[in-house]
Amino acid sequence: MFGNSYWSIVRPDAIAALHNEVFKKVLNWYYSVFIDNYPAKFHIAKAIPLPKDIKLTDDMEVLWDVYKELTRHFNELWNEVKRNSIKFDEFKKRYREADTSLLDLDIEIATRILKRCRFCEWKCGIDRTFTNKGMCRLNITSYVHSWFLHIGEEAPLVPSGTIFYGSCNFRCVFCQNWDISQENPYKGVEVNPRNLSLIQRELRINGARNINHVGGEPTPNLHNILASLKYLDINVPQLWNSNFYMSEEAMNLLIHVIDIWLPDFKYGNDECALRLSKVPKYMEVVTRNLKKAIEWGDMIIRHLVLPNHIECCSKSVLKWIADNIQKYRVIVNIMDQYRPEYKAYEYKDLSRRPSAHELEEVYRYADQLEILWRDVS
Ligand code: SF4
Repeated sequence: MFGNSYWSIVRPDAIAALHNEVFKKVLNWYYSVFIDNYPAKFHIAKAIPLPKDIKLTDDMEVLWDVYKELTRHFNELWNEVKRNSIKFDEFKKRYREADTSLLDLDIEIATRILKRCRFCEWKCGIDRTFTNKGMCRLNITSYVHSWFLHIGEEAPLVPSGTIFYGSCNFRCVFCQNWDISQENPYKGVEVNPRNLSLIQRELRINGARNINHVGGEPTPNLHNILASLKYLDINVPQLWNSNFYMSEEAMNLLIHVIDIWLPDFKYGNDECALRLSKVPKYMEVVTRNLKKAIEWGDMIIRHLVLPNHIECCSKSVLKWIADNIQKYRVIVNIMDQYRPEYKAYEYKDLSRRPSAHELEEVYRYADQLEILWRDVS
């Protein structure tokens, strides 16, 4: 299932990554799920029952209180799986899916948030069952533009069962996916939770090491992604490939289902984020979410080196990682492939590729901070 396919010829490093001791250690949960040693987190969430005296129709305040209690149970069971190495097959025998589970609770909370949408930090407050007038321009429908086994991702992730959702809550002037994220978000296929689960099943059966939710941006599609897991009966790690601008409420729901996080840490300050992606409060939101996510799954951070943004962004991003989450031995992919696209030529600082000198300077700084970044991409 996982070897000797066309991608293993193009990406031999993806095979080598299976035997890389550092990756195996740092990404232990993710590796264990993709070889079916452990159940993916969404299976654990499905095994936690809602207390009998609680109904999904109860007030939101009541649901959040129950959420706290069930999150404690989730954590206990998750730790038990790791401590006792409970394999997926064994887990299914021991812990049946609850009639109404923690995953159902998460889906219900997401559905209610959608009615005054605050999935991301824009907190537009619109009812997406009626309108698409928020920053992401999406109503309740999700649009999938493509899904396939991606062989261009980081070595431990390849082949990655990637699902590209239309639309985004950022307006990056240099976006490489500008077609689906900003210009034509509705040109994809409309999906409901059931066919989204079928897409995931197909990808896994064809050898995906993970399901990679990306876009555009997956965050506005949170309700459909959570609901799709209700129908998914096979085991596969869920990967969140995002700009990390989720609200705290959205993060609270994601922690029960995401096995590996792939945050895009673009900027080292708010000014560059506002100017180039048109988002406020960037550092506060993204760093808050990074700190929470690292406690709830494995992580590879992506940082795209932008020309003329070495001091203000690249070094600042690396310094923040070193000061705040390096103790978790987090992997950082320092990406060198920036090229001016979309509206980037209107911005003088972005109108060229990063120079070899700039890249070297970033690599040197990462080494100086003992960042784990080599051999990732
Ligand atoms: S997902 Fe974010 S941008 Fe879209 S409507 Fe909700 S709060 Fe607004």
